[in-house]
Amino acid sequence: MSSGNDVLMPTLGSAMPSYDPNNIFAKILRGELPAHKVYEDERTFAFLDIMPRAPGHTLVIPKASARTILDIATDDLVPLIKTTQKVARAAVKVFGGDGLTIQQFNEPAGGQVVFHLHVHVIPRQNGVALKPAGSAMADSGVLSEQALRLAAALQS
Ligand code: AMP
Repeated sequence: MSSGNDVLMPTLGSAMPSYDPNNIFAKILRGELPAHKVYEDERTFAFLDIMPRAPGHTLVIPKASARTILDIATDDLVPLIKTTQKVARAAVKVFGGDGLTIQQFNEPAGGQVVFHLHVHVIPRQNGVALKPAGSAMADSGVLSEQALRLAAALQS
């Protein structure tokens, strides 16, 4: 069955590097590296960013081996967006967000650093600027506690 990628890949995909299964997020999915998990289903996984730009900064990823928005199959993209909305609703509830920033970067030119497709969900407060990307590693105990609260909100 066609996913819609059959048409796109020869034109867009051929110029892009292929998926590297040794990227950090692939290792997290395989359980080779730890993560502060907040949600998981058949097709998606969500965990806290270790260098959060605001409290509750969560990354939502597909389980499929997609490098960017360009090479993911539609059948995997739709669940990724659905999980992004679920996580966004929980993040606003748990962190009392006044708003929310959703970011998604593609390739180095687009600001991507980890080459497994991911969506950033960042709760925002009025008047509070985002911390710079990659500025500080969060305390693991704080992340554990936040992940538990988010996971609980996602189950309710
Ligand atoms: P980008 O590829 O620019 O969208 O950013 C990758 C994001 O992954 C950054 O916000 C990093 O802080 C985050 N990150 C890198 N390694 C890990 C990790 N092991 N666990 C959680 N987040 C990570």
